[in-house]
Amino acid sequence: MGLVSAREMLLKARKEGYAVGQFNINNLEWTKAILTAAEEAKSPVILGVSEGAARYMTGFDTVVGMVNGMLKNLNITVPVAIHLDHGSFEGAKAAIEAGFSSVMFDGSHYPIDENVEKTTEIVEYAHSRGISVEAEVGAIGGEEDGVVGSGEVADPQECKRIADLGVDILAAGIGNIHGKYPDNWPGLRFDVLKEVQDVTGGMPLVLHGGTGIPGDMIQEAIGLGVSKINVNTECQLVFAAATRQYVEEGKDLVGKGFDPRKLLAPGAKAIVQTVKEKMELFGSVNKA
Ligand SMILES: [Zn+2]
Repeated sequence: MGLVSAREMLLKARKEGYAVGQFNINNLEWTKAILTAAEEAKSPVILGVSEGAARYMTGFDTVVGMVNGMLKNLNITVPVAIHLDHGSFEGAKAAIEAGFSSVMFDGSHYPIDENVEKTTEIVEYAHSRGISVEAEVGAIGGEEDGVVGSGEVADPQECKRIADLGVDILAAGIGNIHGKYPDNWPGLRFDVLKEVQDVTGGMPLVLHGGTGIPGDMIQEAIGLGVSKINVNTECQLVFAAATRQYVEEGKDLVGKGFDPRKLLAPGAKAIVQTVKEKMELFGSVNKA
């Protein structure tokens, strides 16, 4: 199966009460591990690519070429989307032109009127080509108020303004945090999540910063309309830990243990395992 937009897979997830994981890719090993996990779990999957990761992989064309090649060579049968993560205005257009099947335009740092204007243009550009769009609403409070540690929280009325532009997926802060969560984190704001879901008429919502949120909170969020969960840091942590263990045990010094295909194998295996566990938690196993 070729690349698909994220729209249908997320509407199905919203309807059936599970979430699809977005797992960010950094290189060939990452991509192969995530696609392998999705195929084995018979789960739909979204490959997230930040603009920085795309630059690291030399550009959007390389990413699209690599992923399309793997879909064919690995005989992937589950629905797969390549999604630009936290895209800029220009970045979103460039990713669409290179063959991404889904983009996030993150206008959350603009004043709401400017976010509305730019999101409108990206929606038109993407939808005329069958590409799905995720938009993000700016945070209220958070660090600007000097309240560090409670995460970002969006204004439900601003969420409605962005949702009404015809976006397919909406990212809104509900107390979630990118990266590691502080010990004093008070948890997700289910009151805000409920309100956002009500005013946006049941639109699929995204939970960014999925690493470190307890499983029961994840499942409650899915029950309240979260249909896409972004996982990035967790794969990085398990990859680094497995690679560290391989080197610390001196395995790179034994025989051909320095061969990159051997050196990077434990990390890749750890990603497969983590991705499958997330798919289990999100309820997307056997939903392809
Ligand atoms: Zn994010």
